[in-house]
Amino acid sequence: MVLPATATPQVAGVQRVLIVSYDGMRPDAIALAPMPNLLGLIDQGAYTLTNAQTIDYPATLPSHASMLSGLCMDKTGIYLDKYFAYMGYSQGVDIFDLAHAAGMRTVMVVGKSKLRQLAEPETTDVFEIDYGEKAISKAVVELIPSGFDLMFVHFAGPDLRGHKYGWMSDAYLKVMRDGDVALGEILQALDDNGLRAGTLILVTADHGGHDKSHIGTTIEDFRIPWILSGPGILHKELTSTIGTVDTAASAAYALGLPLQADWDGIPVYEAFGRPIIKKHDSPPCR
Ligand SMILES: [Zn+2]
Repeated sequence: MVLPATATPQVAGVQRVLIVSYDGMRPDAIALAPMPNLLGLIDQGAYTLTNAQTIDYPATLPSHASMLSGLCMDKTGIYLDKYFAYMGYSQGVDIFDLAHAAGMRTVMVVGKSKLRQLAEPETTDVFEIDYGEKAISKAVVELIPSGFDLMFVHFAGPDLRGHKYGWMSDAYLKVMRDGDVALGEILQALDDNGLRAGTLILVTADHGGHDKSHIGTTIEDFRIPWILSGPGILHKELTSTIGTVDTAASAAYALGLPLQADWDGIPVYEAFGRPIIKKHDSPPCR
């Protein structure tokens, strides 16, 4: 594997990428909550609330490892939904490896400590754990003025409320509204620092859920939102079959980082208005 010394932007106008993951957020809950800031991104972007799925083990740590690495679970080696230091970090070349090797500033702000296992500390210039939607947005808003090239933000609330009160419960929808307020604060900070126009924003989730779990017995456990908004992105509902592994590939493509031959994910070219070079006939990693 050869890592690049520099990156050439592949998509005109994209200067940085922000990936936001709402843990356990079902796509059909977005309008019900409602989440006006996220609905605004959907309105301005390319999205699907029906055609995207996570991997065959719809759990937080394995799913996020695949989201950020473009690899199915057999290649990340993240089989367990708990951080065990002896297992090491997610294997393979992930989007943080590529961005950091290209000299980009990389930032992760997460709501669960086990997400440390997603990327080696040396590839994240900033890594913060904060608890609660408000604390996450406060941290991100404070970091934005220093700039970033790749940022991953993780809100834990929907999953925590889902397990306690049930997916689609009032408490679940309420924390999604809190997460949407947090998103609004982050968007405002991008605006205030003159960074919004050059930022590609990708909003997704690691899994859905039903009743009080996401064990993988119903499609609602696997289905995730996939929303892309920013420079070079068409305004349309996507028809592509998307897997969470396509998140890393799409981010790499937008940043001009080399797509890796062993990745299971591919860029969602449809969102960029490019011809579909290769497509999944069924969700990858299922
Ligand atoms: Zn989760």
